[in-house]
Amino acid sequence: MNNISNYMSNNNYTFDSGVLLSVISQSKEAMAIYTSEHLHIGFANDAMLQLWGKDRSIIGKTFGAALPEMIGQPFADLLKAVWRSGETYQATDTPVTYEIDGKLKTSYFDFEYRVIQDASQSSYCLLHTAADVTERLKTRNDVLEVNTQLIETKEGLKQRNDQLDDAEHKAQSLQLRADENEFKYRTVIDQSPAAIIVFRGPELYIDAANAPMLQLLDQQPDIIGKPLLVAIPELKGQPACDLLYEIYRTGKPVYGYDTPVQLKRNDQVETGYFNFSYTPLIENGRITGIVDMAVEVTEQVKARQDLEKALEEGNALAKKVADSESRLQSIINTMAEGMGIINTDGDIIFANPMAQRILGLQQDEITKRTFGDTRWQNLRVDGSPLPDHEHPMAVMMAAQQPVYDMEIGVKPPNADRFYISINAAPLYDSEEKLIGGVATFMDVTQRREMLNQLAERESSFRSFLQASTDLIYRMSPDWQNMYTLSGKNFLESTDSPRSNWVQTYIPAEDREKVWLAIHEAIASKHAFNHEHQVFKADGKIGWTHSRAVPMLDENGQIKEWLGAATDITWRKEEEQRKQDFIGIVSHELRSPLTALNGYVQILELKAKKINEPAIADIASKAKRQIDRMQTLISGFLDIARIGEGRIQLNLKRFDMADLVRLAEEESLATITSHRVIFAPIEHMPVEADHDKIEQVIINFINNAVKYSPKGSEINVSAVTQHGIVRVSVADRGMGISKKDQDHIFKRFYRVDRAEMQTVKGFGIGLFICKEIIGLHHGKIGLTSKPNEGSEFWFELPIDSSSLTAEFC
Ligand code: ADP
Repeated sequence: MNNISNYMSNNNYTFDSGVLLSVISQSKEAMAIYTSEHLHIGFANDAMLQLWGKDRSIIGKTFGAALPEMIGQPFADLLKAVWRSGETYQATDTPVTYEIDGKLKTSYFDFEYRVIQDASQSSYCLLHTAADVTERLKTRNDVLEVNTQLIETKEGLKQRNDQLDDAEHKAQSLQLRADENEFKYRTVIDQSPAAIIVFRGPELYIDAANAPMLQLLDQQPDIIGKPLLVAIPELKGQPACDLLYEIYRTGKPVYGYDTPVQLKRNDQVETGYFNFSYTPLIENGRITGIVDMAVEVTEQVKARQDLEKALEEGNALAKKVADSESRLQSIINTMAEGMGIINTDGDIIFANPMAQRILGLQQDEITKRTFGDTRWQNLRVDGSPLPDHEHPMAVMMAAQQPVYDMEIGVKPPNADRFYISINAAPLYDSEEKLIGGVATFMDVTQRREMLNQLAERESSFRSFLQASTDLIYRMSPDWQNMYTLSGKNFLESTDSPRSNWVQTYIPAEDREKVWLAIHEAIASKHAFNHEHQVFKADGKIGWTHSRAVPMLDENGQIKEWLGAATDITWRKEEEQRKQDFIGIVSHELRSPLTALNGYVQILELKAKKINEPAIADIASKAKRQIDRMQTLISGFLDIARIGEGRIQLNLKRFDMADLVRLAEEESLATITSHRVIFAPIEHMPVEADHDKIEQVIINFINNAVKYSPKGSEINVSAVTQHGIVRVSVADRGMGISKKDQDHIFKRFYRVDRAEMQTVKGFGIGLFICKEIIGLHHGKIGLTSKPNEGSEFWFELPIDSSSLTAEFC
């Protein structure tokens, strides 16, 4: 056969393939040709078919399909390995088990697998040749048997010396052949890539074990020659081991698949899994041993076990999901909120029990409707019909976004209107496709009714407020943001916050003063109270009196400001007109009055000259009245100047005590209706405008006279304390209410009460006093109780430099 394959690979010789095949067909040597890596049988000669116990129908099948009994035997793997490597494999005395006439039969073979390669060195086909050497082995076993008999019958041997000679002779000649066979037998086992172990005798003496088997068992070659259970005691009682003994009884080969075997490997007993075949060695019709070929499949079995475990876990998970689904179902059934599911057409496909309760319908009645069904009579919260696209479910489906706490009204035909608040979210399938939506909702009728009541109350409160003032507003704690402003048409109303309200409502020249007043109010957390100009809704400039109170939170921090403002444009215009008029009149009066004063002085001088004391006295009184009139006119002019910011101080150092004494003299000369009492006064140096401070004192005394009953007492005092001079004028008159006290120093302000009708005045005296003391950086004020009296006072700093220089 080797010759033929040589020819096939030798390029010098060319054979017609038909001729070649017929040569091979007729060969006594069993031959087969495989044409693919999968071992398709392309050709098998009669000798090979006979050896396999098959007919020609196997041609074209794969080795595995044609010879299923080869499963568990190493030959298919060996053939494939040869195909892949291209290296010839030869073996001798190898046991092979075939199924012949339905029975398994083990024979022994020398065989060779050889690859035929094409010009490009790739495998073209695989040539399998085999020779049955069963008979040859039998001979060798005969020798072995004789040997055994020799040992067993050592005693008998002595008695049968004659026989012994013969037998020995025979044995010696047979031994030569046996040694040769023994060598081949060991070689086959040793070179087999499959793990092989051979047992002999019922004690299972280990006759041979190749390296793969030793590795598999984690044993050393010294186990050879020992009984199996002595060498590997842990096998005792294991089914895979018991089967070996069985073979002696049944004589049949045994195959095992994925069979667990406990083996001590790496000093640890562990379970390995094996496919194995136990093939009896039958010699002279007797079972003399067993060939055990094994392949470890632990990895595969474990992988399968892992898979099974994963499957089991998967099943457990599925059960868990089913459990949690049923839990979810019971939550949905018992939840205190209504829950409904819609499909993409808007049909309601599910409603939980609470949804049925809130809507007053059974599940099957609800699921016959869409969410926009007209029978719901959906309403907006203001009671108007709800357009379909405004329905929370429509909003959610259109945007594919969740919606929260969207409230709608529902008015069933025979029931009261109720309100529901809806949360809704889209539903997607596992491929992220929108399949509908889910909504939870609750009955918020009570909440809505309360809100409606609250809104009603707020609106009546607003109306009430607006009836009492021109507009109301709300400001952020720092006044940077105006939240709302509403009212009559005085200023433009706004419901949305405005950060540019100052620019919108206040003319540039007033902004600084307004912010000053705001900052004072914020710092003190007291009411804001300010009069300023505004841009009115009609675009013209007007005036407002604005008041605001801070709303504090539980920590005393300002939450917001609530304000009210009144239109005082008319009053301001009136004041302006008054002021303009006074300004003009005063100016016009001043020249004639100056002339009149000159004439009266000349008259007084002349009267004195011609010795007419009565005329001189009248002239002098006339002059005093002219003086007072001049004072009044200069007051009016002062106001005009103050309005224009033109008032000037003429500062000089003087003693306040002297000034008060001057006022005392003046009072004694002019006031007869009241008892004006001056308390003793010490030196009080000040640096101030002498005439203007005198004007203030005289104004206080004149008011005390005007607004207290005749004959009552007026007390004037001046004291120093902590570097300050305090001058006060107290009367026992009508007094001033708290409300009026807030305004008393304002221009043209006069208390509105019956007694005032008879007292003449313009309401400018105290305004001028306040301006004068303000220019001196002093303080002015009053304490008063209606019907008990008033005390007006002012304070100026003592001039300490004068104290040392002039008075000490
Ligand atoms: P006039 O006295 O000219 O009205 P004033 O500015 O001096 O102007 O005073 C403003 C208002 O203050 C007065 O109209 C009066 O109502 C009130 N008033 C001033 N002084 C007193 C006082 N001593 N007692 C009671 N009311 C006073």
